[in-house]
Amino acid sequence: MEKTLSVITINKNSAENFKESRVPLFLISIGALAILLFVGLASYKLIENEVKGSLLKQLQLALPGTVKMFKIWEKDAASKAKAAALNKEVKKDLLVLLDVSRSSLGNSQKILSSKNLISLRDHLNKINLQYGFEGFVALDLNGFAFAASEDEAIGHKKLLERAGSKFFKLSLMGNSTFALPFKSEIPLQMESGELCQECPTMLTSSPVYDESGKVVAVLSFRLRPEAVFADIFEIGQTGKSGEVYAFNSKGILISKSRFPNELKKVGLLENRPEALSILNIGIKDPGGNLLEGFRSKKDSEELPFTRMATSALKGESGFDFKGYRDYRGVKVVGVWSWLSEFGFGVASEMNYDEAFSLVNKLEKWYWILFCALIFASAFSIILAEKRRRYRYQLVRSKEEAEKANRAKSEFLAKMSHELRTPMNAILGFTQFLMKDKKEPLTEFQSSSAEHILKAGNHLLELINEILDLSQIEAGKLKIKLEPVNLFLLTNEICDLMQPVGESKEVTVKNMISKDRSPFLYADNMRLKQVLVNLISNGIKYNRNGGEVVLSMEEIENKKIRIKLRDTGYGLSEEQKKIIFQPFERAGAEARKVDGVGIGLTITKYLVEMMEGNLSLESVVGKGSCFYVDIPIYEEVAV
Ligand code: ADP
Repeated sequence: MEKTLSVITINKNSAENFKESRVPLFLISIGALAILLFVGLASYKLIENEVKGSLLKQLQLALPGTVKMFKIWEKDAASKAKAAALNKEVKKDLLVLLDVSRSSLGNSQKILSSKNLISLRDHLNKINLQYGFEGFVALDLNGFAFAASEDEAIGHKKLLERAGSKFFKLSLMGNSTFALPFKSEIPLQMESGELCQECPTMLTSSPVYDESGKVVAVLSFRLRPEAVFADIFEIGQTGKSGEVYAFNSKGILISKSRFPNELKKVGLLENRPEALSILNIGIKDPGGNLLEGFRSKKDSEELPFTRMATSALKGESGFDFKGYRDYRGVKVVGVWSWLSEFGFGVASEMNYDEAFSLVNKLEKWYWILFCALIFASAFSIILAEKRRRYRYQLVRSKEEAEKANRAKSEFLAKMSHELRTPMNAILGFTQFLMKDKKEPLTEFQSSSAEHILKAGNHLLELINEILDLSQIEAGKLKIKLEPVNLFLLTNEICDLMQPVGESKEVTVKNMISKDRSPFLYADNMRLKQVLVNLISNGIKYNRNGGEVVLSMEEIENKKIRIKLRDTGYGLSEEQKKIIFQPFERAGAEARKVDGVGIGLTITKYLVEMMEGNLSLESVVGKGSCFYVDIPIYEEVAV
């Protein structure tokens, strides 16, 4: 089995490969970002729709609940009014007063001086107290007030002008019904005791029948809208800004606003504790957020209705989740409905910021994360690109250096080969001259020839080593793996090295026994070269009377460890690190020991080519032990 060692293995990381690697990295990053953007946007949209859906349900739910409550209240108020109108004493006084009014042609003085008015007021005051009514007024078929709890309310038709005639007509038709909040010309006593002028008032009315069962008048009771009526709408409030409110056909608020303090602050409502938002706030779009300091230059009359009111006043129901300004100018989302049956509209709204706080937060974080991702990706692409360029330069420099090294090795290999031939001739002829017995050399000539021979041998050894190293570096050195008998090999080497050792007074001992000798899987010639070199070093760097001992042991991974222990100078930790580098002598020059410093470099290469390993242990002043680990020959494995 032949092998060659290639010192240069750059195919995988060649400079050309680096050029190509740029495009996929960039594309992968863009692709990953696009996928992230898409997935992020899709999930964001999904959540946004979910939130909108549940918000719609939440706001929508508030409306039917509120309307139901209102209907219950309205029925209750109407039945109370009916009960009062059917009360015998009340009816009796009313019919008498109606006669007085008719006979005096509506003379209020006559009515006011009637005992029946006093009696009627007595009865109805009790009923008012019981049912929570604020007062009463009785109208004849023409809408003329012929009886009332307050004197000023009697003798005119002002009530219908203010409250509208719808409730009146309905009552004449026999229905108990109500009138939406309106501003009453009759002052109303507040809880504080003050008289409230132009106070918001509501009416609940019932027809008054004569003895024949004919409707002859309408009895109306006064209610405070800010009490029970307004409370109905407060039930639908949700969150911090969810508001349900009612407005009349003129687009004016007829329930209480949830934000009286804000309205007072921005001047939409008088800054008095008793100031009511009912009938004082138009559902108009101020054109900007009043709470944020926006002030419209237009008169409140000129302002348009809000998006909600515009639609509802046309009799439409609807919703808007894109957001529109409410009567404070705050961006809200809302659902609304026009209740034609009752003649007013209801809206359920919530501040946009609150309604979409989750979605807004999500959107904010989505963009923050996305930007961070883009930033991180751009950063890593730049870093990767820089690294790629750096590696490209590195690989290029390495390639160039290796190319130059290969050229040098090839040159050296050729040169060494060329030098060996004349060197052999020089040595051969010198030996020939020295051995010529016919014409023996003079003493001086003989000593000169010996010098030539010694120097020549040294030079040849040097040339051989350089040739080996350059062949290895050029990737041209071949090895042939075969079964090698370790005993035979080491025995032969020891015989060869014995005389060399003797010349330095160093004993070379082979402790490897013939019987237990294993077969190694190695290149016979190159393993011999390895061991000769190590023994030769063991002799060279030894003291007089020292020894070099060869032994072996089996180690893991089916390998044999050949140990070469000497009793020489030993090596320090620092020296151990450098001795395998070419031309590194670790201070041996100072000891005047011959050498070039590439023997161990070649030795290590050769051992590794044979799938082995070279290592050493050494103690300065005591000696070194080199370990050559070589695979055992196994027939099956071959
Ligand atoms: P050379 O022997 O030609 O100098 P080598 O590559 O064989 O080159 O060895 C490198 C260096 O390692 C030597 O110069 C010497 O300093 C050190 N060295 C090698 N073998 C031994 C040894 N057995 N004992 C002590 N030092 C050694």
